Order: sequence, then C-alpha cells, then structure tokens
Amino acid sequence: MKITNYELFQVQPRWLFLKIETDEGITGWGEPVIEGRAATVKAAVIELMEYLIGKDPLQIEDHWNVMYRGGFYRGGPILMSAISGIDQALWDIKGKYLNVPIHQLLGGKARESIKVYSWIGGDRPSDVGAAAKEVVDKGFTAIKMNGTDELQYIDSYEKIDRVLANVSAIRDAVGPYIGIGIDFHGRVHKPMAKVLAKELEQFRPMFIEEPVLPENNEALRDIANHTVIPIATGERMYSKWDFKN
Ligand SMILES: [Mg+2]
Repeated sequence: MKITNYELFQVQPRWLFLKIETDEGITGWGEPVIEGRAATVKAAVIELMEYLIGKDPLQIEDHWNVMYRGGFYRGGPILMSAISGIDQALWDIKGKYLNVPIHQLLGGKARESIKVYSWIGGDRPSDVGAAAKEVVDKGFTAIKMNGTDELQYIDSYEKIDRVLANVSAIRDAVGPYIGIGIDFHGRVHKPMAKVLAKELEQFRPMFIEEPVLPENNEALRDIANHTVIPIATGERMYSKWDFKN
C-alpha cells in the first residue's frame, strides 16, 4: 500500500483536519492542530507530507522517527501537533487495513469507562457556584475551573482571597466530595504559587494545574514539596523528553 494524496480541511473557528489517501482506497483521518495556530500547523503538515507521499502508510514508527529526528530542529507545539495529526491518520489507516480498533493494536482496552470532569466558566463566586451545581446535577462528579488572573511575583492577598472565595462558593454549592481541579494556566510564579497552594488546601482540591509555566518546570518540585495538593501539568509539553526534568 502507498500514500497517494492528502487533503487538509481548516474549519472555523480553530480546527484543522487531515485526510490521508492510499492507492488501496483506504483513507485515514487525523487532527493536526493547536488552538490559535491552525494555519501554522497546516504549513508544517504540508512540508512533512512531501516526505510521506509514495511511502507505505503501515510503517508508522519509521515515519514518526524520520519526521521527528530527520530535521535539525525538533519538538515544540507546531511540529509536534503536525506530526501527531499525521500519526493519528496513519493509525486510522492501519486499523482500517487490519479491520481492528486501534486499541487492539496497542494491547487491548484496559477499562470500560473513565472518570471525567466538566469545565465550568465564570470567574465570580456567584457564577462558579451556580455553574458547578448545574454540571453536578447533570451527573458529573468533578469540575475544573480557572484559578486566577495573572499574579505578579509578589502580589496582594486581595487576589488570593478572590481565588479562595471562588473555590469556597463551589464547596458551598456542591458539597465536600465533588472533585475540584483548579487550573492556573501558568499565570503564577513560584512565590505566589506556594502561597496559593497552602491557602487552597482547606478546600481539598483534586489537583492544581500548571501552577507555573512549563518553561519554569523546575519550580514544580519546590511547590510539590510545599503542599499536599497533587499537581497536574503537561498540556504544553509535547514529547517524553519535555517531561524528563
Ligand atoms: Mg490547562
């Protein structure tokens, strides 16, 4: 089998889809995109697909390595999103070719269901309390919310109290056992992240997410040593090497 062609579909407001075609009539779909940079990732996919035309789509590992290691510059959001979307499409082709779901090629499914949280909008206590109640009434057992706007290296306790008021409103609305994830989107620096984590412990959050930017990941160890709240991260890390530190 050979890859013969591909098509890219940019869909408003922020999506990009890739269809890879083969000479055996099997097509594979992937989603090579990162929000806000669809056109940039599209350009990267076009460059990478030059190499793939005429190749056997089943040799996924080989192609991944050529795409990742073949150029002098590696990694990052644009290239890794482009490679990911192509990788998805190649797995889609392989699954269709062998007529099995992809999970069968990766060892088989390990669970029947997974726990999920619902994002709630709203940055004011009245909003988040009502929003949390609404999704819990729908059956969710966990929610995730915005932590705070940007904090300076040293900032005021007024902003800290605002965060606490929001989380407190959620606890008041949905009780002590609904999971609460608090996403800081990297808007906090280490000194205030430690303050926030300590103050938030009273509400027993499920996790705090990206307390610092991924470029300051070395601060995570300090923050983790300072709090019992689990720390979530990884949304802006693109390969196993980004997790190495
Ligand atoms: Mg996040």
